[in-house]
Amino acid sequence: MKTSLAQPTVRPSDETPAIPLQMAPKRRGKPPRHFADLTPEERVASVIEAGEPAFRAKQLATHYFTHYTSDAAKMTDLPAKSRENLAATMFPELIRPTRKLEADGGTTVKTLWHLFDDAKVESVLMRYPNRTTLCVSSQAGCGMACPFCATGQLGLTRNLSTAEILEQVRAAFRSLADGEIPGGVTRLNNLVFMGMGEPLANYKAVMETVRALVAPQPEGLGMSARNITVSTVGLVPAMQKLTKEGIPVTLAVSLHAPDDDLRSELVPINTRWSVDETLDTARNYFEVTGRRVSIEYALIKDMNDHAWRADLLGEKLNARGRGWVHVNPIPLNPTPGSIWTASDREVEDEFVARLRGHGIPTTIRDTRGSDIDGACGQLAAEEDDE
Ligand code: SAH
Repeated sequence: MKTSLAQPTVRPSDETPAIPLQMAPKRRGKPPRHFADLTPEERVASVIEAGEPAFRAKQLATHYFTHYTSDAAKMTDLPAKSRENLAATMFPELIRPTRKLEADGGTTVKTLWHLFDDAKVESVLMRYPNRTTLCVSSQAGCGMACPFCATGQLGLTRNLSTAEILEQVRAAFRSLADGEIPGGVTRLNNLVFMGMGEPLANYKAVMETVRALVAPQPEGLGMSARNITVSTVGLVPAMQKLTKEGIPVTLAVSLHAPDDDLRSELVPINTRWSVDETLDTARNYFEVTGRRVSIEYALIKDMNDHAWRADLLGEKLNARGRGWVHVNPIPLNPTPGSIWTASDREVEDEFVARLRGHGIPTTIRDTRGSDIDGACGQLAAEEDDE
């Protein structure tokens, strides 16, 4: 894509240089092909190619998507020779956990993963009384350059492959099935693409992941599309494409400001697709899929938290109809070195009250895991000396 984009001029601190928008990754090295990269048809073809009978594809799928295992040694219904043969070709180790951090009595777990080329990503598993949610990464780093976001400050390293994303999900299912999270054995209910990266900038792998998430077991993980949230800065053409996929995932749009002047500073891609274009596209997503869209709004003290901005947001949403959208304000999680901070409680309350006054359903998003840098926008994998 050819873009000539203005640089943001508002920055978290004067020492923080504005970083450029980056649509394409620096590194293009491809991770090894994995069973989870394949469609059901490709699984059969590749099992045959490995000299095994076609029905092994279903056996492998059952192990992977129903028992959440990629360890060939555990696939004891297969002959030992087939196990060895298939382990090497189908299940290379793609992601390796190198650090786990816990909060909330062990019900929030952040995992740092090392990838084959030493790129690093994070995922966060959160157990609530009535549901369990996993926040996954879709890219190593991110090219969208939002100045308040820790990942945005890293720049984009590369896209993750389908299997690198699915492996984060499988690991979560595995951990829940093993009873590793206090509260007993359970399954994963919700998945949000709110970890590192801009999911719609890695469209193909993210959609292949979604297809595997919603395919019934044993072909996939049997999740419900409505419980999968794809969160985007507002890549309009990709949102339009998503609208036509026929998979009614929940769409979340990171708006953060209702006016172009400020939004172009906070979400630099706004210089390419404006607030109005983004909202029109979101509204059309609702129209076609019937899924109510979420608007994400990080409340940043004295930056975007003014009552008039709540009113303007309410007006812009209502101008596009009723009942199609809800707003999720979240108090900013300050990133290291930033002079920006979360809005005061009264300001937050007023912002919410104004939106509700316009008839917009509004719920404050929780900041679980902020003490382990596992909350929204705080994921920034670091180089550790190990
Ligand atoms: N690239 C996607 C996913 C990013 S993370 C997107 O931008 O939507 C998910 C959400 O966390 C986004 O709404 C993002 O704007 C928000 N976020 C980023 N940094 C944050 C911070 N420091 N505090 C609160 N929310 C933040």
